[in-house]
Amino acid sequence: MNHRDRVDNFNGGPAALPVEALEKAQAELLNFAETGASIVEISHRSKAYEAVHQQTKALLKELLEVPDDYEILFLQGGASLQFAMVAMNLLDNEHTGAYALTGSWSKKAREEAARVGRVRTVFDGAESEFRTIPGVEQVVPAPGDAYLHLTSNNTIYGTQWHAFPDTGEVPLVADMSSDILSHRIPVRQFSLIYAGAQKNLGPAGVTVVIIKSSLVARAKAIAEEKNIPVILRYDLHAKHDSLYNTPPVFAIYLMGLVLEWLRDHGGVAQAEARGRQKGKLIYDAIDNSDGFYRGYAAPDSRSYTNVTFNLPTRELEQAFLAGAEENGMIGLGGHRSVGGCRASIYNAVSVEACERLAEYMDSFRRVHG
Ligand SMILES: *Cc1c(COP(=O)(O)O)cnc(C)c1O
Repeated sequence: MNHRDRVDNFNGGPAALPVEALEKAQAELLNFAETGASIVEISHRSKAYEAVHQQTKALLKELLEVPDDYEILFLQGGASLQFAMVAMNLLDNEHTGAYALTGSWSKKAREEAARVGRVRTVFDGAESEFRTIPGVEQVVPAPGDAYLHLTSNNTIYGTQWHAFPDTGEVPLVADMSSDILSHRIPVRQFSLIYAGAQKNLGPAGVTVVIIKSSLVARAKAIAEEKNIPVILRYDLHAKHDSLYNTPPVFAIYLMGLVLEWLRDHGGVAQAEARGRQKGKLIYDAIDNSDGFYRGYAAPDSRSYTNVTFNLPTRELEQAFLAGAEENGMIGLGGHRSVGGCRASIYNAVSVEACERLAEYMDSFRRVHG
């Protein structure tokens, strides 16, 4: 099939998905698994859907190397609902939620938790305009912490943790919405990982939560004591294998197709290798531009999924973005809260697309620099 009508998609989220996964969804849309109906027209308790549910979970477990004593949940409400659920399920009156603030999303997570219980800040990146990630030795949990929360990749500012703190007995909780499955991570170091799907996993509508079984037990005790609504309880969703109520069946199904694609393309190790290559192409275009392009993130904190940069003036940025669109490259505008430019280069964005972007950056600089 000819895909010349598909653009080079650098959107921050929802973002590019592998064309093979979209084609498969298209091919089986009208008649899924010989049911004579589409996946969104059959019961979530049917054998056909059950197979999708279990296969998608199994693929996540395999690709991320999730240990056996963790639960994988498929929830709704986006990463933003997890900001609240983490605190509601893990924060009791005796403990504090500790937050490393490295950008807008971690600030939102902390604000939401502050509505539920006591919070404290272990690192505040505002002093460096969120250009940096702290060294792991700067992020130290205290005995009264219920958990320590961090955002592994800052989608908006374009910074990323490249090593994670050892928090000992204090559960480490991470929002990995924008870099999950882009590189290998030591799942064991975390007690809870969550990610909205629409950056690197699939379509919007499903949120993946990976939680240590022992933490589910603790969450159950806290939720019972606080009598929080059952629909917001991790233990309820774990007990019902994310089928307490109707799950977002299409989002889970399409995420499953994306995961199959990833497995067939060398898994997370290859995604990481391609990610390094893609990031290097664009960072080199920035670093070799004699200051025409200014990378936003401090070099040692740079993200390999969201490359953020500025041009000398707002007018040049506008011209750069307009020219990019004319060349079939979309989604390069920075987040509305910070402006500038951002190339989101998630797993489904090809090396070739990044080569085309780097070439465009060079030629635009030669004309306007
Ligand atoms: C996009 C994003 C969010 C918000 O996700 P929703 O699913 O829209 O709630 C939260 N955290 C990070 C790191 C993100 O990139």
